[in-house]
Amino acid sequence: MKIIMLGAPGAGKGTQAKMLADKYMIPHISTGDIFRANIKNGTELGQKAKTYMDQGLLVPDELVCDLVVDRVQQEDCKDGYILDGFPRTIPQAEALDAALANIGSKIDYAVNVEVPDENIVNRMSGRRACVACGATYHIVHSPTKEEGICDRCGKELIVREDDKPETVTKRLNVYHEQTQPLIDYYTKQGALKEVDGTMSMDEVFNAIVNILG
Ligand code: AMP
Repeated sequence: MKIIMLGAPGAGKGTQAKMLADKYMIPHISTGDIFRANIKNGTELGQKAKTYMDQGLLVPDELVCDLVVDRVQQEDCKDGYILDGFPRTIPQAEALDAALANIGSKIDYAVNVEVPDENIVNRMSGRRACVACGATYHIVHSPTKEEGICDRCGKELIVREDDKPETVTKRLNVYHEQTQPLIDYYTKQGALKEVDGTMSMDEVFNAIVNILG
């Protein structure tokens, strides 16, 4: 099963993608995580990506497409995968479709986790991330046992640069301009499935599982 998760930043698609990857036992491929790992490891890709990410802008298509196209052709992806945060532009979707068509494959479902902008801004202001291991939390929806300290590794939590309110507003604008057109794109392919992302995490998960079967 080849699934794309669509939705605004902060709609909860990353959380759902992880839960779905566990349930269906297929890899969870998050381009945001890949970039953050590259930043942490000080790679050239990471340095390039960071300048865009910190401003709430998209990393240029040419830095993303080959990376994902290579990744989905690896052995562990043969039974499917969940793409989280890719594609984010029409050219990225076209690059993915072209690469998949070459190997006689295609996307089965594009799941759009729909959340209004005002909910997103509220949610993102509560997000916290671990500086050391990258685990993410929410001060209301998934708090740590001890405030400000990572449950997993005990290190300090921060508000990620791209989760700061001014950056969130910028990211939402970028989302509406560049990513939302993908909803039409996958509707035309007959792959789009809509889910109400304002429900609880478990309700959203069950709704998606009902769709995927
Ligand atoms: P995410 O964790 O998916 O919200 O991604 C964090 C940031 O990484 C985004 O705001 C972008 O700057 C960058 N990014 C992640 N995926 C992509 C993509 N497919 N295309 C362009 N930029 C991306």
